[in-house]
Amino acid sequence: MINKTNFNIKEVTGCLGGECYLVVSGNKTVLCDTGFSFAAPQAASNIAEATGGAGPDYIALTHAHYDHAGGAAYLKSVFGNAAVIANSLSADIFARPGALRVMRELNASAVEEAPCRDPDASRGHGDMLDRFKADILVPGPEDYTVAPDLVAIAAPGHTRDTTSYYFEDLGLLFATETTGVVACGAVVPTFITSYAQSLDAASRMEEIAAPSILSPHYGLLSGDDALLFPARAREACEVFADFVLSRHQSGMTYDEIVRAIHTAYYDALLLPTGKQPLAAFITNAKAVIPRLIAELE
Ligand SMILES: [Zn+2]
Repeated sequence: MINKTNFNIKEVTGCLGGECYLVVSGNKTVLCDTGFSFAAPQAASNIAEATGGAGPDYIALTHAHYDHAGGAAYLKSVFGNAAVIANSLSADIFARPGALRVMRELNASAVEEAPCRDPDASRGHGDMLDRFKADILVPGPEDYTVAPDLVAIAAPGHTRDTTSYYFEDLGLLFATETTGVVACGAVVPTFITSYAQSLDAASRMEEIAAPSILSPHYGLLSGDDALLFPARAREACEVFADFVLSRHQSGMTYDEIVRAIHTAYYDALLLPTGKQPLAAFITNAKAVIPRLIAELE
C-alpha cells in the first residue's frame, strides 16, 4: 500500500551542483547520493541537523561520478552506522587510481567555479576517495532488494554503473541521469554511454509509473510531473540524438557539435541553474558524440 504523504524529502546539499537528498520515512532514512568530496563536510553538518544527529540508515549511490558519490567515504566516516549501497561496477571504479585522479581534477575545477567555494577544498578537505567501501553491493542487471521496501534497478546509459532506486512502500523512484535532468522547465538529456539504454530506462520508468520521482540535481516531482516524466525523458533523448546526428551528417566536426550542444543545452538550460560545472559538461559532451554516432549509424 503506497502512502504518498508518508515521506519527507530534505535537501542536504553541501555545495550547489552536488545535490543530495534525504528520504525520511517511518522505517528508514536514506541519503540519495552524496555530492562532491569537497562539500562533504558541509553536507555532513546539514545531514546531522536534519536527522537530529542520528544520520541516515543507508547511503544510496547512483553512480561513481565525482558530483554524486565523491562524498560517500567522508560521510561514512561521520555516520558509521549508515550502510553504503553501490553498484559493484561503481565500487570497481573507486578501486582504479586513474578514475580517482579524474575525480580529483574535476573536483578542483568545480571548486574554481563553485558558488560556495570552500577555501579548504583545494587542500583535499573532505577527500577520502581512496577509502571508498560499499557495504551493500548491487550485483548485476537484475532488480535487487537492498533494504526492506528498497529495490535497486540498474539504469545504465549515463554510465555503465548507473543505478536507480525504488522505494516500494512510498511509490518513490530515485531516478538517474540516464533519463536526464530537469532544468529551466525542460528535461536535459545526460546519457553518455548508451542512447539505446537511455530509451530502455525511460520505458522501464514508464512501467513503474511511480507517483513520485526524486530527480537528480532537481528534487521531487509529483502528480502529473512524475507521471509524464518518462515520456518527456524519452522525447528529450530522441531530440538530442537528432540534434547530434543531423549536424554530423551535415559535415560538422565533433568540436563544432560540442560548441552547438554548449549553446543549445548548457548556456540555455544548465548555466541558469548554476548546478553543472562547465568542465564536466564539456567532458561528457565530448564523450557522448562519437558513441552516439556509432550507435546510430
Ligand atoms: Zn554523472
